Amino acid sequence: MCISYSGRCVLSNHMSHRDANRGGCSQSCRWKYDLYDLPFGEERRSIKGQIPEPFSMSAVDMCMIEHIPDMIENGVDSLKIEGRMKSVHYVSTVTNCYKTAVDAYLKSPETFEAIKQDLIDELWKVAQRELATGFYYQAPTENEQLFGARRKIPKYKFIAEVVGFDKASMTATIRQRNVINDGDVVEIYGPGFRHFETTIQNLRDGDGLPLDRANRPMDLLTITVPQEVYPGDMIRSCQSGLINLYKEDGRSVTVRA
Ligand code: SF4
Repeated sequence: MCISYSGRCVLSNHMSHRDANRGGCSQSCRWKYDLYDLPFGEERRSIKGQIPEPFSMSAVDMCMIEHIPDMIENGVDSLKIEGRMKSVHYVSTVTNCYKTAVDAYLKSPETFEAIKQDLIDELWKVAQRELATGFYYQAPTENEQLFGARRKIPKYKFIAEVVGFDKASMTATIRQRNVINDGDVVEIYGPGFRHFETTIQNLRDGDGLPLDRANRPMDLLTITVPQEVYPGDMIRSCQSGLINLYKEDGRSVTVRA
């Protein structure tokens, strides 16, 4: 799509010999660019200073979740969801949302409408930036581009996945992916758009010793959960994490989001 419509990704092939069409893009749309003037017969000259800041040419993220009915009614029967090097947190959330949306609409348009806002809210939990419909309905305006500072920031953090569950003791064994504190407010979710919010309780290490804080990625830990969970379920922290935020002058700062 970028090749055919915007040409942004071709820049990766041209500038770094990394083929965007085969998954190797060097994220050239997110680099910082400057403007040059090239008067006929004269030397190229920078017009730096006449624009407020170097700019990127990044599109905001594509999102068609609200328009699944349009896609189905127009004969689309297979969806490919794109994402460059996305995390398991992102992929699980996005595929869960679109699968739920398609199933709901095929059941009835009313079923889809009833959950539409929930689907949008869910996608925002993994959004890295704003969402837009890209080229689907019209050429994107400047509001669907990201020329300067990032305007939307992630609020959720993937902290663990469930690898086992003991119903008798309501104990979940989890594989840690980010820092976990006893008492953290978390959301556990899984296929079929299952969700519930809870707090981390009875956090223990692999030897059964209690922990206030776990900070070793991929360690196996246990927690007590209020509902049944399944291997493959994901846990995300509703607290915000540290992210890099680009400021208007092009510098980036790390902030707690
Ligand atoms: S990050 Fe995506 S949109 Fe940007 S150049 Fe690479 S493939 Fe294209």
